[in-house]
Amino acid sequence: MSLIVTSPLRGWVSALDGVPDPVFAQRMMGDGVAIQPLGDTVVAPCDGEVTTLHASGHAVALRSAEGAELLIHIGLDTVMLKGEGFTPLVSVGQMVSRGDPLIRFDMDAVALAATSLITPVLVTNAEAFTITKRTVDAAVGACEALMTLVPVQTDARKRSDDGTLIEQAVKLSLPHGIHARPAARIGETVRGYEADVHLLHGETRGDARSTVALLALGTSFGSEIVVQARGDDAEAALAAVVALLATDMGEGARPAPAPVAAPATSLAEGHIGGVIASPGLAMGPAVRLHRAEIAVAREGTGAVEERAALIAARTDVRGRIAARAEAAGGSVAAVMQAHLALIDDPELLGAAERRIADGASAGFAWRGAVHDQIDALRATGNAHLIERIDDLVDIERQLLSALTGTPTEAETIAPGAILVADDLLPSQLIALSATGLVGIALSRGGPTSHVAILCAGMGLPSLVAMGDALDVVEDGHLLLLDAEAGHVNSVPSAADTEAFTQRLTQRTARREAARAAAAEACHSADGTRIEVFANIGTVDDAVLAAAQGAEGSGLVRSEFLFLGRDAAPSEDEQHAAYQAIADALAGKPVIIRLLDIGGDKPAAYIPIGPEENPALGQRGIRVALAHPGLLETQLRAILRVEPVGQCRIMIPMVASLDELRAVRALVDTLRGDMGIVVPVEVGVMVETPAAAMTADLLAAEADFLSIGTNDLTQYVLAMDRGNPAVAAGLDALHPAVLRMIGETCRLAATHGRWVGVCGGLASDPAALPILIGLGVTEVSAVPGFVAEAKQVVRRLTLVEARAHADLALQCKSAADVRALARAFEETR
Ligand code: PEP
Ligand code: MG
Repeated sequence: MSLIVTSPLRGWVSALDGVPDPVFAQRMMGDGVAIQPLGDTVVAPCDGEVTTLHASGHAVALRSAEGAELLIHIGLDTVMLKGEGFTPLVSVGQMVSRGDPLIRFDMDAVALAATSLITPVLVTNAEAFTITKRTVDAAVGACEALMTLVPVQTDARKRSDDGTLIEQAVKLSLPHGIHARPAARIGETVRGYEADVHLLHGETRGDARSTVALLALGTSFGSEIVVQARGDDAEAALAAVVALLATDMGEGARPAPAPVAAPATSLAEGHIGGVIASPGLAMGPAVRLHRAEIAVAREGTGAVEERAALIAARTDVRGRIAARAEAAGGSVAAVMQAHLALIDDPELLGAAERRIADGASAGFAWRGAVHDQIDALRATGNAHLIERIDDLVDIERQLLSALTGTPTEAETIAPGAILVADDLLPSQLIALSATGLVGIALSRGGPTSHVAILCAGMGLPSLVAMGDALDVVEDGHLLLLDAEAGHVNSVPSAADTEAFTQRLTQRTARREAARAAAAEACHSADGTRIEVFANIGTVDDAVLAAAQGAEGSGLVRSEFLFLGRDAAPSEDEQHAAYQAIADALAGKPVIIRLLDIGGDKPAAYIPIGPEENPALGQRGIRVALAHPGLLETQLRAILRVEPVGQCRIMIPMVASLDELRAVRALVDTLRGDMGIVVPVEVGVMVETPAAAMTADLLAAEADFLSIGTNDLTQYVLAMDRGNPAVAAGLDALHPAVLRMIGETCRLAATHGRWVGVCGGLASDPAALPILIGLGVTEVSAVPGFVAEAKQVVRRLTLVEARAHADLALQCKSAADVRALARAFEETR
């Protein structure tokens, strides 16, 4: 007997293939159709029982009397709205009739906040029912026919019901049990076999082909599951499912550490090689980061006491975060703001409160609330949202430390130490920076990651990607960290220590001399003007940069204003920030990079669908052009800065001339609207090989070009800047990158445009003579390196820089270029 499934919504029906989420488009959760809703109430598509109602109210599942299981999922990525805009009208276990209202939702609010409103309507046990008829590419009203389902005959499925039942127990390695995505993977695996496969968890038994049945098993990490199979290929099916369940299906709390290759250079005994993330020298005892689990009691001593304890702990943590933000300022403050928002997050507080009311201790309730959120983020499968899990883990630990009186990691570290760790979160680094650390050595990490950028900004000598060799270093070992040559001496002799101390003293003297001359203009020894600017994120950075002698800012990372918050800053807020930066730099040029979101810099309120390869996806100007409202607001805020023209505009991640033309046209229109007659410079960042190779085309229409060597290196070498497994090779002094830089300068010169460098290479003393020899006339470095950069330039003639750059272009590897740079420095 067939079953008619009617439409749960008024709207436009289309095939699943067009849904921009592979989980639905590839039918991993079942077959069906998708509806672009035109109504705000989801109604029952058949008579049946409500089997699942997601806690966020964005999805509901029904089982019809005939056994068909149907899932209606309102919009994409809507789990992250945490119930906002959804009003469930039924509860699990309720019997409903066709047309009964199930969920009402606020179409405007959901449409604004979600990736898409498209609503898949799926048969999740599609192996038991064939869809013989379905409506597609047509308008439907609620309760109009949508799909016809016919039960699959047992014969047709070639099940051998008289076969022997075989079974095997397995312990779940999935960190959050079987939720939607693992269920879809299990279903997918089983669909490759003929056998009947069921999973048993305690008393509950679920068909492995049914997502909903698997969710209803209510499993968690470590749950004992029995897998049962019966039929022709039962053994193979059983083995496949058991093997899958034994893995974490890629959902581990942190990806399994990839083997990290330390740089392949021959090093002296006791020396451990690494990649320079922030140049400098440091000497001090090693201190390892210990991340002991914080134990909390399960049962509380009473709801009133536990509530009071939670409030006190939150007040404590809030105070500490605010103090840290105040002390550090700059980009650090933006990360701290994100943490403050989490401490007061109503969803987290509501979930903790419910647990306390049920008798849990404050710590247990907070941990549970945070982990529910982590599960929800992970379940979205959205890489950008998943990256926010680190912040949740961080805030969980901070609050539990306050509740239990457990010292935080920072409190256990004495000043003058060198931190040795596997890897570090940006927020951890910020917390630790107040301890007076003098250096950092990481087994993993990448030289252009945000941690590396923060280290460079703090002037903290750092090596990353040192590999497992770093494991031999124990707490208290004296280390000589040489982030100029790229190694740590872990067993220094007395003579080593003495020589290193001398170098440190010379370095300090050199820095002091540079600082004394910081305010003077910068020309090479033979009179060529080279501008030395600073990279900044905030007004505090601008003040620091000005004090270091920066002649302007060659890169204002405006995204720091946009990150770690729930909504984009308003035009007035942006204007105030840009004006304050311009004022701090007292009339000097300020190059504001347009919002550079995407890739490793997500902003939750700018939805970017899941991407296989975010580094090659929605990034930089592509995102801004896709959100013209955001772009226009930012441009207006920049154009309002007085005096007009002090702020220049720079476009990130340019891959083609069209992008420059689109921004230039918008700037001109806005200038017209705002009555601005003074021209405003618009330049492009050269971060893609495409921009480098078409620098002449870009230079014909851009006012300037500035090379972002962090991204350019990633794209030229095809090495992800955030992947520790390739970090050892990710050196911007690779001859291929240098040739791109040389070619950019040559092509831009055909139109008389200046070329600058604002990527990490501008803060690398070994690179400066080469960059200037290649034709770069502006460098924008971290504020702490500005004074030294000026000294390097002053000691250099253009003739010798060009000859040196020519040799560098002929080198066979980045290591050869570094050796050449050392020799160049020593012979002067
Ligand atoms: C770069 O890519 O070199 C750059 C300056 O931009 P960011 O590091 O902010 O991506
Ligand atoms: Mg970049």
